[in-house]
Parts: sequence; structure tokens; C-alpha cells
Amino acid sequence: MRDLAIAIDIGGTGTRTALVNSEGVIVERTSIRTEPQQGMDAGLRRIAAAVRQVMPDDGRRVCGIGIAAAGLVDVRRGVALSQSNLPGWQGAPLRQYFEDAFQLPTAIGNDANLAALAEQRYGAGKGASHLIYITISTGIGGGIISDGRIYSGADGFAGEVGHHTIDVHGPRCNCGNLGCLEVLASGTAMARDARSAIAAGRPSQILGLAGGDLAAISPVTIAKAAGMGDVLGHEIIDRAGTYIGFGLVNLIHLFNPRLFVIGGGVSNIGEPLFSAIRRTVAEHGIGPMSDGVRIVPAALGDDSGLLGAAALVLDRQA
Ligand SMILES: [Zn+2]
Repeated sequence: MRDLAIAIDIGGTGTRTALVNSEGVIVERTSIRTEPQQGMDAGLRRIAAAVRQVMPDDGRRVCGIGIAAAGLVDVRRGVALSQSNLPGWQGAPLRQYFEDAFQLPTAIGNDANLAALAEQRYGAGKGASHLIYITISTGIGGGIISDGRIYSGADGFAGEVGHHTIDVHGPRCNCGNLGCLEVLASGTAMARDARSAIAAGRPSQILGLAGGDLAAISPVTIAKAAGMGDVLGHEIIDRAGTYIGFGLVNLIHLFNPRLFVIGGGVSNIGEPLFSAIRRTVAEHGIGPMSDGVRIVPAALGDDSGLLGAAALVLDRQA
């Protein structure tokens, strides 16, 4: 019985490989440094060696290999398209390479789309057929699950929830667009806003918590200050939550989900952020569409990309 999947999650710093069973439990795992500067061929060989380490003695139990990759992914051709964190890997023929190396069916997806799938199969969205996952860290990504499947659009690029415009007069985003959710509400945006307020003379405990170093300000120091009653810290979290809430309102009106699952490091701020998100949705969503939509923290943490990659190939088996 082919009831196991190999999962690979390729990131700019580290790459994780795992053997995952049909219940979504990781039974073997390993991680290596990606070291993209050594070039794509060397990198792929090292990832293949890591896959061999988690491959079970009875290889006949493995139904396939699922790969999660950052950035735009051409899911049909199995190619990673834009890899700003993997310089030199643009156009990496990931599916073909691993299919040839292991003679196993191989599928690839965007890491945030696959995290959405994982939360729906094994995590906070278990049993929900219509949910949207959002990850908030240095950037903002996400994935849309519609009828229990990843909604991928014409080319597999759908679900870039960080890059819809919230403020047409807002700052320019890394993607080239204006006022994207990511450039307004990501961890990077929160730190930038705290820095500029403090540089302009706003009193705050944030700077002290960052050791007096403006560059060391992060969502963690902002949240810590807010927890101590710091007004600026609270304002920054509330503003980010409000922007994210407006993003959710847009997504509710477009996709009619029942559930939002919010993950990523910034989501660890917890209630102060979530309450601003929920308040904004309650105030601005169209009633019958937004009433009853639940907004919950993610459950799978850093393993969500791996587990979603496994689900991608286990699904094909089912
Ligand atoms: Zn953008």
C-alpha cells in the first residue's frame, strides 16, 4: 500500500525534507542549509541526498514526492519561476529533476498555497471546505481553499493575498504595485512604522526593548512594548490589524470563505492583533457574507509547507 509521501520545503536559508504518513504525521525528517550561492545543480544534488535519508527501506510504500517552493511556481510545468531568495535558481525544473532521480510521481506548489492545504487537511481548518490561509511574517502570503482544493487560477498563481491594494495612495511594494497589504501590514512594515515614529520623536518603550538600536526593532519588540502598555506599540499593532481586516473584508466579498486561518511569526502577537482584525471585519464586511466567518490562529507552525506538499501527492493517491 502506497500510504507515505516524501515532502520537500525549499527555502532561501534552509530546506526540509520529511516522510509523512496518510494522517499527516511526520515520521522521519531532516534539514539542510540550502546554500543557493553554490548554484542550482549542487543544491538539487544535496536536496536529493536529504531525500534519500528519509526514504523508507520499503520504497514501494511511497506514493510520490511533493515540493513546496517560495515565490511564483508554475505548477503545470513543475518549475520555480521567481526565486528572489534563491538567486540563480530561476526556472529550476524541480518536478522533472526529482521525478528522474527517484522515479516517483512528483508535484510542486507555492509554499503558502500548500500551507493553506495543510491547515485544511490536518490543522486549524480541518473539515472546512472554504477557507483562506494568510501568513504574516516579513512578507504576507496566503492560499485560497475552495471546495476543499487549492484555488490556483489560470496559471497557478492565485492566492497572492499580500499583493492586493488596500491603499492606492500607499507606499510602493516590492512587487511594484502600490499600497499592497504586504507593504502596509507585514512585520517589515510594522518595524518600519515604529522606526519612523521614534525617529520623529515619539516616546516609546520599543527602542529600549530593542537595546537602543533602531535597526533591531521587530514585531517582537513592538508586541512586548504593547504588552507593557506602550501607546505606540499598541497603535502599530492596531493599525496592522486594521489593514489586515480590510484585506479579509475584500477576500470575504470575493470568495465567500467560512474561515480564515492566520499564521506566520507576526500572528504570534495574538489577541491584540486578532481583535483589530475581527473588529474591522465586523464593521466593514457585508453582513450576510461576513457574519459567522471565523478568524483563527494557524495550528501547524513551520511544518505547514511540508505537510501541504505531502497532502498534494497523498490526494492524488486517494
Ligand atoms: Zn505587492
